Amino acid sequence: MKLAPLDLRMPASIDEALGQLAALGSDAQVLAGGQSLVPLLRYRVLRPHVLLDINRIAALSDLRFDDSHGVRIGALVRHAALEQVRAPLHAPLGALLNAHAREIAFHAVRNRGTAVGSIVQADPKGDWPLLFSALDARIELASLRGVRSVPVREFILGPLLTARAVDELATALTLAPDEATLTAWGRAKLMHRAGEYAMCSAIVLRRSHTWECWLGAAGDKPCALPRLARALAAGTTARTPLLAAAGDDIATALPELDRLERRRHAVNAVDAAQRALNPQAR
Ligand SMILES: Cc1cc2nc3c(=O)[nH]c(=O)nc-3n(C[C@H](O)[C@H](O)[C@H](O)COP(=O)(O)OP(=O)(O)OC[C@H]3O[C@@H](n4cnc5c(N)ncnc54)[C@H](O)[C@@H]3O)c2cc1C
Repeated sequence: MKLAPLDLRMPASIDEALGQLAALGSDAQVLAGGQSLVPLLRYRVLRPHVLLDINRIAALSDLRFDDSHGVRIGALVRHAALEQVRAPLHAPLGALLNAHAREIAFHAVRNRGTAVGSIVQADPKGDWPLLFSALDARIELASLRGVRSVPVREFILGPLLTARAVDELATALTLAPDEATLTAWGRAKLMHRAGEYAMCSAIVLRRSHTWECWLGAAGDKPCALPRLARALAAGTTARTPLLAAAGDDIATALPELDRLERRRHAVNAVDAAQRALNPQAR
């Protein structure tokens, strides 16, 4: 199906984009990589009057790993840039971003799609919502009313639902320096075929003495696995108690995950992520 007629605008600066969003409100839809939005426009699930293409705003292409300021991933940073990024000061995080981006779809999607767009899309099967929730990253939202910085964990409210106001432009994902300093990580994305959306995915992260364990693509939004994190922090290495902790977490966080097969996918994803951890991290 062809797109319904609409007015395409291409602001050249953030200020210009914010002015247009303030004036147009829900009549406008921001276009970043278009990899999620364009299919929705084609099938007329969304019918905006104006498409606000932000691809000319150079200030949104920032990708910075800074020892004193942390990490900044601008709204036009593509999946492909994160697949290749080198971050000597934050090498484990850089390697995690590379591995995570590499499993998103295929080159054509990775060359256009953006990590910020993926967070705003809030697809329960999306890969970046899981990783940036686990990392406790923040999303920066600008409007004529000012700039606010919201934890991704609070920004994503549910499937395709976020705390973004209609006049807000998401300008970047950010991580504080201590959050960017990982000592180990393990991740797993279970797919029917390589390049597809996840059936289920999991991430295990270590920052000096604290652990974060998160499950994705199983419920409405990524969810934390605190019992597993506590077991790892206590030095547990045996697989059986770790899987029992993960099983309890999954039963608590996702009671609706009642089909045995789906529950098995979730436990398998956590098991694979946990086993992918660098053994020296234990
Ligand atoms: C064939 C195919 C396979 C895919 N496979 C995967 C996969 O395996 N894993 C995965 O995670 N994703 C997958 N995707 C989705 C892809 O990662 C998208 O790139 C991503 O979800 C959205 O990013 P985008 O930049 O394309 O956003 P767009 O499609 O441009 O926008 C998505 C939504 O976010 C809004 N938006 C975007 N940027 C901003 C901003 N800066 N401020 C305010 N609002 C904004 C838009 O208005 C729209 O509502 C796939 C897509 C395709 C087409």
